[in-house]
Amino acid sequence: MAERNQAAHVVLLPSPGVGHLIPFVELAKRLVIHHNLTATIITFSDFSTSKAQRSILSSLPFGVSYVSLPSVPIDDLLTEGNNASFRLSLIMPHYVPSIRHLLLNLHKTTPIAAYVIDLFGGDIVSIANDLCIPKYLFFTSNFFFLAFQHHSITLSGISEKLELPGCFPLGRDTLSLYLGEETSSLNAKLARTQEVVDGILVNSFETLEEGYSQLAKDRKIPVWLVGPLTRVGSGSDFKKDAIFTWLDQQPIGSVLFVSFGSGGTLSFEQTQELALGLEMSKQRFLWVLHPPFDADGKLVTTWVSQTHVLTHGAIGGFLSHCGWNSTLESIVCGVPMIAWPLYAEQPINAEMLVKGVKVALRPIVGEDGVMRKEAVANVVKELMEGEGGKEVRNRIRVMMKEAAKAMEQEGPSSKSLANIANLWKMTKL
Ligand code: UDP
Repeated sequence: MAERNQAAHVVLLPSPGVGHLIPFVELAKRLVIHHNLTATIITFSDFSTSKAQRSILSSLPFGVSYVSLPSVPIDDLLTEGNNASFRLSLIMPHYVPSIRHLLLNLHKTTPIAAYVIDLFGGDIVSIANDLCIPKYLFFTSNFFFLAFQHHSITLSGISEKLELPGCFPLGRDTLSLYLGEETSSLNAKLARTQEVVDGILVNSFETLEEGYSQLAKDRKIPVWLVGPLTRVGSGSDFKKDAIFTWLDQQPIGSVLFVSFGSGGTLSFEQTQELALGLEMSKQRFLWVLHPPFDADGKLVTTWVSQTHVLTHGAIGGFLSHCGWNSTLESIVCGVPMIAWPLYAEQPINAEMLVKGVKVALRPIVGEDGVMRKEAVANVVKELMEGEGGKEVRNRIRVMMKEAAKAMEQEGPSSKSLANIANLWKMTKL
């Protein structure tokens, strides 16, 4: 089949949330800049008011554009006490009619060579089927979680441990978070998306994913690792503020960065224990503090340019909720972590980072589920000054080099993305 003259057009639909939008924008940028495609990103006007989202979409290169879906009445769904994953799975079906309308128009104007959805896009696959557009899943988390989700459908109950071929074992504590009735059925729904697409792109790289070679080969649908796709090194709109003036004055590697992602919050009690523990550790720290979920009041800065913080020489550790973007950014910047997962796939990511890749330490949680100040102080001191800290620091430096190699022109992730881009350029329209 001959290549067409006009650049192949790819439409990408990240589900709402900065953590989904960021890797999709990075994927789109790469497809356009390195592979001469054009990309349209679909966003949700109901969620586009945040400063963070506006800033992400404000510096798109030529060839990447975005279009917003009109508002849909979903307020009732948003106020429920569900966690982020449940909420997304509830709201996405409500956008199907407007997505169908938009795709139809986009396809008429510039035929779509590939349609890329994320984990929560399963409800939208049928639209692409009706239009005969090839559809792909961009999994914005790691391959281990993709494999776990796929595998967990076949599990009947919670066992002592689960060991996927080539992977570190998951213990009962972590398994129990995913194999309860409600979470299992959500996972099963999400895992079905893996079966109905033409291919899966994962924001990760081979050296990080020990089980990839064994687990990917038996799958009917091709899975490519194309990462790490991160914002590190981009963001030309960045302006230095007081935080960076302060960081400039701190010794190299002396500051712990504390952040729970774009939306992660702690209880008031846990926030207090963390604050006291940080103080007890006698280490310098920079904390992006969100108001506790069970207390009123506005506190301090709730957003910093994380990739600029992580690349600053003064940063020596990252206490993180283990969101996958934050994890990749920490690896790309060579900053060792303290794993403090909150929800979604974060507990699995934390296990992977502590037991599998060995780039993170973990605080000991109290019997009541609260991380007490002593546990916080101990793990922080250990990361910043102890032997355990030295080990994970050395390990993350190795991973940092591997991440850079994966993204070199001839690196495995770059080559996979080039193959996918070529496939899309050849799509018969
Ligand atoms: N982020 C940031 N500043 C903040 C908090 C988050 O720049 O104060 C960025 C962070 O660099 C990452 C993304 O937001 O790229 C968060 O994604 P992640 O997957 O880590 O967590 P989520 O927010 O989805 O839970």
